[in-house]
Amino acid sequence: MIKCTTVAMIAAAFGAAAPIPTLAEAPFSFDAAPGRLPKNVVPLSYQIAIVPDIDALTIAGIESVTLQFRSATPTIVFNSLNETLSDVRLDHKAVAGVVSNDEQQLTTITLPEPVSPGRHTLTFSYAGKIESQPHGLFAQSYTVSGGTQGRLLSTKMESTDARRMFPCWDEPAFRSTFELTVTIPRGWQAVSNMPAARQVVNGALATTTFRRSPRMPSYLVEFSAGEFGRIAASSDGVELGVWAARGRERDGTTALANARQILADYDDYFGYRYPLPKLDSIAVPGGFGGAMENWGAITYNDQLLLLSATSTVQDEQVVFSVEAHEMAHQWNGDLVTMGWWDDLWLNESFASWRAAKETDQRNPSWKWWQRQDADKEVAMAADARLSSHAIQQHVTDELQAANAFDPEITYSKGQAVLRMFEAYLGADAFRGGVRRYIKARAFSNATGADLWNALGAASGVAVGAIASNWTEQPGFPLVSVAASCDAAGQRSVALSQRRFLLRGADSGASHWSVPLQIRSGAHGTTQVVLLTEDGQKVAAGRCDQPLSVNADAIGFYRASYDATTARTNAENFGALEDGDKIALLDDQWALVESGADELRSYLTLASSMGSDLDTRAWQQIAVALGTIEYAERGTAGYAAFSAYARSIIRPVVARLGWDSRPGETPDVQELRRSLIGNLGAWGEQDVIDEARRRFNAFVKDHSAIRSDDQPFILSIVARNADAAAFEQVHAIARQASDETEQQRYYLALMDVRDPQLAAQAAQIALSPELPPQAARWRVRLVVHLASQHHELSWKTFTDNVDMLLSPNPKYRPLITAQYVPVYFWDSVPLDQLEGWVRAQVPEQMSPNVARGMETARFKLSEKSALVPAADAYVNSQSAHPRP
Ligand SMILES: [Zn+2]
Repeated sequence: MIKCTTVAMIAAAFGAAAPIPTLAEAPFSFDAAPGRLPKNVVPLSYQIAIVPDIDALTIAGIESVTLQFRSATPTIVFNSLNETLSDVRLDHKAVAGVVSNDEQQLTTITLPEPVSPGRHTLTFSYAGKIESQPHGLFAQSYTVSGGTQGRLLSTKMESTDARRMFPCWDEPAFRSTFELTVTIPRGWQAVSNMPAARQVVNGALATTTFRRSPRMPSYLVEFSAGEFGRIAASSDGVELGVWAARGRERDGTTALANARQILADYDDYFGYRYPLPKLDSIAVPGGFGGAMENWGAITYNDQLLLLSATSTVQDEQVVFSVEAHEMAHQWNGDLVTMGWWDDLWLNESFASWRAAKETDQRNPSWKWWQRQDADKEVAMAADARLSSHAIQQHVTDELQAANAFDPEITYSKGQAVLRMFEAYLGADAFRGGVRRYIKARAFSNATGADLWNALGAASGVAVGAIASNWTEQPGFPLVSVAASCDAAGQRSVALSQRRFLLRGADSGASHWSVPLQIRSGAHGTTQVVLLTEDGQKVAAGRCDQPLSVNADAIGFYRASYDATTARTNAENFGALEDGDKIALLDDQWALVESGADELRSYLTLASSMGSDLDTRAWQQIAVALGTIEYAERGTAGYAAFSAYARSIIRPVVARLGWDSRPGETPDVQELRRSLIGNLGAWGEQDVIDEARRRFNAFVKDHSAIRSDDQPFILSIVARNADAAAFEQVHAIARQASDETEQQRYYLALMDVRDPQLAAQAAQIALSPELPPQAARWRVRLVVHLASQHHELSWKTFTDNVDMLLSPNPKYRPLITAQYVPVYFWDSVPLDQLEGWVRAQVPEQMSPNVARGMETARFKLSEKSALVPAADAYVNSQSAHPRP
C-alpha cells in the first residue's frame, strides 16, 4: 500500500514511549509468529465461489478449504465478519456446532469428536455483505468524463478485511492457494490475481473461474469487476495489463510503459524472476484511496495510474513512483511477506526505499532523492517527538494493525534508514544481501532478523547489531562535532551523540550505531565512519575546508558543528555540493526550531544562496520562511518580515522568469512555480498582477496556461480574489469534467483570503456539486482552508467529520488521533482540541493522541518564539542592509 494520501498531504507536519531495550528479534518461524488464530489447523488451499449482488449489496458464497490438522483437535477457529455460515461439513460430515462472533471477528466450529492429524476438507455455504466503503469486497459509484454514471466492484483486504469477503485464516503467516470463481453480469470484465481459466455464460450472467494462485496470505487476494477496458503488452513472458473504466484505458499508456521497465529492472535487482504469468494494474475510479499491491493484480486510485492531456509533470512523477512502490511489493510483501504486522516495515519501508531508488535511476532529471528529503524532514519532525514510536511496533489487534501504516515512521523513516544502510554497506553488497533474503524466504514469511542476517552474510558486517537500534527504538541522534587543529592545519573531530528532540532535554538512555558519511572540502570524497563511542576521534581533512558529517544528506540523524567549523561552512556555503547544502539547511533550521540555536544562524545560510538553482534547498528555505511568515501574520512586524522573505527569493525568480525555456529540467520548472507562488503568497504586487493577467487569458482560453502552471497561478488569483474573481475560479472548477482538473481548481478555491468568500468556499467543499469520487478529497479541501481560516476550517471539519472521514474507515482513528491536532493546532485552544479528539477515538489510541498533541504544543510554542527572533533579525538587517 502507499501512504494514506489524507495523512501524507500535510506538507509541513511536525515530532513516547520510553526508550525500549533493544530486543534481538528471531528469524521467522511459523509456530513463533504472533497472531490470534491457533496454529494447529492450517489452510492449504481454498476454493471460493461467489455470486455478488451489487444492488442488494450481498454475497452468496460456497467455500471449500483443504486443511492440514497438525494435531488432533475438536475445534477449528478462523476469521469471519458479517457472514452467516450454513451447511458446514468436515469431510462431508455435518459438524456439531458453528458460532460466529462479529465482535471478535472469529468463527469457531466444533466437531463431533477430535479428528486425526492429516488432511481434511471443510466446506460450507455463506451469506455475506458487499461493503459501500473500500474494505473487503466493495461497490463503487463513479462518474466518467461526460457525466455518465457507472458502478463497479473491487476489493481492499489489507490488513484484516479479506474476512469481510470470505471466511478465512486472515493472518499473514497462513499462506495458502486460492482458486476464485465469480458470477457477474455478462457484459462486465472480471480481474483477479491469476488469469481466467474458464468462463461459462448463462443468460445475463457469466461465471469465471481463475487459475489457482501460488501460496499467499489472504490480504493479497484481489477481485474487481465492472465495465472495464484494457490495454496490454507482453514483457519477457509476463502479460502486463492496465485496466480502467471503459473509454479511459488509453490513459494508461504511460503506466504500461513504466511497468515494462520497472519489471525488467526488478527481475534483475532481486535476482528472482517475477513468478506469476501476468501482472495487471487496475485503475479504480471513485473513492478508492491509494494503491494496493495484490499479487498479480495491483489496484490503484485511478488518479494514481492514468494520465491525460491535462496531467502535469508532477502527476507523471506520482504515477511512476507509485507503480515502482507497488511493484516492489510483488517481491517485498507478496513473494516474501512479513510474519506478522509488527514487521510491516519489511513491506512498506522496503517498497518505499526501492521505489525511490528506481524512480531516481530512471528519471535523473527529477532529482528524486532530493525531493525525498522533504519527506525525510517530515519524518524527522515526527520522530523527534518524545512520544514517537519505533519502526517495528507491537501489534496485537486489528486497530493496531491499521495504525501500523504510519506514513512518517513506517514509510519515510524506514525508507531513509534503509538508504543509510545501503550507503554504509555499499550498493553491491546490499543488493547481494537482498537477493539472498528473497531467495531464502520466497513463497514464505520473514522477520527483520532474516533481512539483517542476509545483509550480514553478503557484506561481512554484523548488520543486525547496528540496524536493530534504528528499527527497535524510537527517535534518532544529534551528532555533535568538535574540531581541533594540529600545527599543520590538519583537522580531527571528536564526535558524540544524544537523542534529538523537538523540545526539552534528552533522558540520555538512547544510543545508536551511526553510519556517518564524512566529507571534508566542498567536493571531497566521502569516508564512511561508524560512530559507536562518545568522544570517538576521526581525522577530517584540513581546518580551512568546510565539513559535512552527513554528506549528500543521506543519514537519518542531525549534526551540530562547533562554532569555528560552522563559520567555515557558512563562508563556503555557496560552493558546497547540493546535498551538503540541503543537510546544513535542514539541520540548522531544526536546531533553531528546537531552541538550540539562534534564528540568525539559519537565516545567514539562507541569505547565502544567492540565485543558485538548487530546488530542494530553495524549497527547504521557502518552508522555513513560510513558517515564520505564518507566525508573523497579524503582528506589527509582518510587513517588514514579508518584505525580507521576498528579498531572499526574488533574485532567483528574476533569474528564472515566468516561462520555461527549452531544455529546462523538471526540477528547475518546479523551482520556478514554487518560488513565484511564494512571492505571490507573501504579497509581491508585481507577481499578483502578472498572475491575474495570465488568469484573464486563461478564462478566455484554457490552453493559455499549461497544466503544470495552473495550480500556483490560480492559487495566487484565488487568494487575492474579490467576489467576481472567486466566481470565475469557481465556474472553472464546476465546468471541469476531469478529476485531475477538478481537484486542482477546487483546491485553489480554498486559498481565498476574504472571510465571506471563504465561508462560501467551505460550503462548496461540502456540496453535491462535487462528483462522487470527490468523497475522498473533500477532507483535503476543508483542511486546506485552515491555512487562512482556522476557526472556519475547524467548525466545518468537526460539524461534518463523519462525511469527511467515511472514505477512510481504516485510517479514521489514526487520522483523528494523530493528525487532527497537527492540522488544527491553532484553530482552537489545545485543551478543547484534545478533548474533542479523545471523545472521537477509543482509549487504546492514547499514544497516538499524545503524538498529535505534542506536535500541537510544539507548534504553538515555536510560533511565539519565532516572532521576536525574526523581528530582531530583520531590524538588524535594515540597520545593516545586505549587499
Ligand atoms: Zn506499500
